[in-house]
Formats: sequence, C-alpha cells, structure tokens
Amino acid sequence: MSSLANNYNRRKLSFKRGKGSFLYANNGKKYLDFVQGIAVNSLGHANLNLIKAINKQSKKVWHVSNAFIIPEGERLAKRLTKKTFADSVIFQNSGAEATEAAIKVARRYFYSIGKPNKNRIICIKNSFHGRTIAAINASGSKKMIEGFGPKVDGFDHFEFGDHKKLKKMITKKTAAIMVETIMGEGGIKIIPNWCLKELRKICNKKKILLILDEVQCGIGRAGKFFAYEYAKIKPDIVPIAKGIGGGFPIGAVLMTKKVASGMTPGTHGSTFGGNPLAMSVGNAVLDQIFKKNFLKNVKKLSKYFHLELNKLKKEFPKIIKEIRGIGFLIGLQLFQDQTKFIQKLMDNKLLTIRAAENVIRILPPLNVKKKEIDLAVKIIKKVCHTYK
Ligand SMILES: *Cc1c(COP(=O)(O)O)cnc(C)c1O
Repeated sequence: MSSLANNYNRRKLSFKRGKGSFLYANNGKKYLDFVQGIAVNSLGHANLNLIKAINKQSKKVWHVSNAFIIPEGERLAKRLTKKTFADSVIFQNSGAEATEAAIKVARRYFYSIGKPNKNRIICIKNSFHGRTIAAINASGSKKMIEGFGPKVDGFDHFEFGDHKKLKKMITKKTAAIMVETIMGEGGIKIIPNWCLKELRKICNKKKILLILDEVQCGIGRAGKFFAYEYAKIKPDIVPIAKGIGGGFPIGAVLMTKKVASGMTPGTHGSTFGGNPLAMSVGNAVLDQIFKKNFLKNVKKLSKYFHLELNKLKKEFPKIIKEIRGIGFLIGLQLFQDQTKFIQKLMDNKLLTIRAAENVIRILPPLNVKKKEIDLAVKIIKKVCHTYK
C-alpha cells in the first residue's frame, strides 16, 4: 500500500529511464510517450543539452535568494522579454503560482494608480488555472472547489463563447479578463483569433487588463512561441510554466512595463522562484526553441500529424468526433468516454492523457520525429480497428 495520499488515480506503470519521445518502463516495455509530463518536457526525455546545462550549473551554485542578483535569471528574463510583448518577468516555480502572481500583478496595478476597488477578474467557467485556493476559484469549476471551504471572492465567470454575458459582466470593479489562449484541461478548445482580437478591443475600451494563461499552450507548444501570436494581439500579462523548464519546475509571469509599475519591492516574492539551477535549465530550453528552424519544424510536423489524425477521423466516423488543437497541443475527441481508449493505447505502448469533453490529449515533445508520429498514428489506427 502506498504512503502517498490518494489524490491521483495513478496508472500502474513506472519508469526507469527515458530518451527523447520514449519511456522505458519497469515492466520491461518501451512506451511512446505523448504525454511528456503533460506538455512539460518540450525537448523530450534526457535531452543532452539540458543535461549539460544542469550538470554545469549544479557544480557552481544551486540556490541563493532573490535578495541577490541572479545573472542566469536576468538573462532568461531578458530573452523572454526580447521575444515577446513583455517588459518584465517575475519567476515562480509552477503554473498555479504563475497565475496567482498574474492576478496579484493586475490588482496591484490598479491599486497603485489609485483604483483599489478595481480588483475583480473575469474568467471562463470551468477553465483551468491551477490548484491553489485562488486558482480553483478563478477556474470556477465546482468539482475543483467542492469541499475546500469558503469560496474566494473576486472572480466572475462566463461560459466559453458567451460574448454577450462577458460584455455585460464588466463593471467598474473589473480589473482584468483572464483566459487560457487554448483551454488545455478543458478539452483543447481554441479561442478563435477573431475572438482574441475582440477581447483585446473590449479590454482597451474598458481600460482593463488582458491576462492570457499560456501555461500549457505557450513556449512553442502551439507552433508559435505564444499561442496568442496567431491573433496578432498583445496581452498585458501572461503566466507561463510547463514547457519553459523542459521538466524542471519553473513558472513565471510576464508583463508590460505599465502593469509592472505596481510591483514595488516587497509586494511579491518567492524563496525558490528564479534560482540559478532552474534559470540555467530555462536558458538551455530557450537555446533550442529559439533556434532558427525549430518552430517552423513544429508547425510543419504538427500539421502532418493533424492531417493524419483527420484521415483517421474520416475512416472511423463513429469513434472519433473531432481532432482539436493546433501545433503539438492535440485533442482527439471521441463520441464516448475516452478512458477505455486511453487504456488500449497504453496496452499498445502509446501514452496519452485525458482532458474534459471525452478528449484524449496528445502531447509529443516539440522535437518529435516524423517516424514517431507515424508510429503513434499506426497505434491509434490499430486501436480504432479493435474498439467497440
Ligand atoms: C497546468 C496548468 C496550470 C497549473 O500549473 P501547475 O504547475 O500544475 O500549478 C495553470 N494553467 C494552465 C492553463 C495549465 O495548463
């Protein structure tokens, strides 16, 4: 019997090592891993560049404190701001911390300009922003909130796509709209470009902030460094995590100079956030993702993957309802509950993971090879053939 609490429905599978797209299990089998720690291992398992970076830094200094200058973090922040809308970065350790920090930054900005009552955040009902007390209340998911005491006030919710309700919801107390650019846990639901543009317009008109949670869809996962780039808009605040650490826990919130002005010394902090070890790994991840043809290749290969999956959808119209997502953030939506299908894929040595709305999430590393995609397609096809 496990001494771990039972808050996860764990699969009976463990691993002794990984390499690229593959995991080698303690049962002797080799699995094609298209979970990759839930969109975390952007460069696959045991990437040599990341190993080199962490080894090198581990011999110098692991941790100091944000009471000192951390050059590796200065560099990572500089690189993130140079590539994006942002002017400033605060480093954290996880996605939930990053979204919490995003909420704090938004509220603190209005406080700092003399509008302390402007503090409510509008979110999509049943979205996902992490598991802390504030983040579950931001998500507005009954399942996540239930049993965890008094609801945290300060969040208003509208249903995905309900623009009328959203517009009506904005009051003089509204500080920001916070949405995932692509809803991950919610079933790989893309907010269309026209809609993101509309959100930007609404925020400009009402003088409120746009927070785009790119914890899952950011850092190249969607084929661009940030998924919102497709809509040619600029957000005010963007929390990131998952992919930036390539497997090492890193979170961050990116923001414009304007909103960063509220974050004066003492307003926020983190003991571990931005430590030299984490920052060295983050820089090594960017070394790869910023390479000239890296994202072009993600786009090209993911397009191929989507094409092949859509062929399967045509071949099995009674099983597969829809192929969702963009880049390597892929959702295979079934007509029925996906649990058995995921199990069968695993029996055939392909690892995937669920999302809401009967969706199977397929999350290869961003440097996946074409022949590995072909292998996945072959396995999914085989399972479709035997699936009833
Ligand atoms: C995973 C995720 C989070 C939470 O990240 P943790 O590291 O698990 O705290 C927040 N927002 C989105 C969109 C996510 O996918």
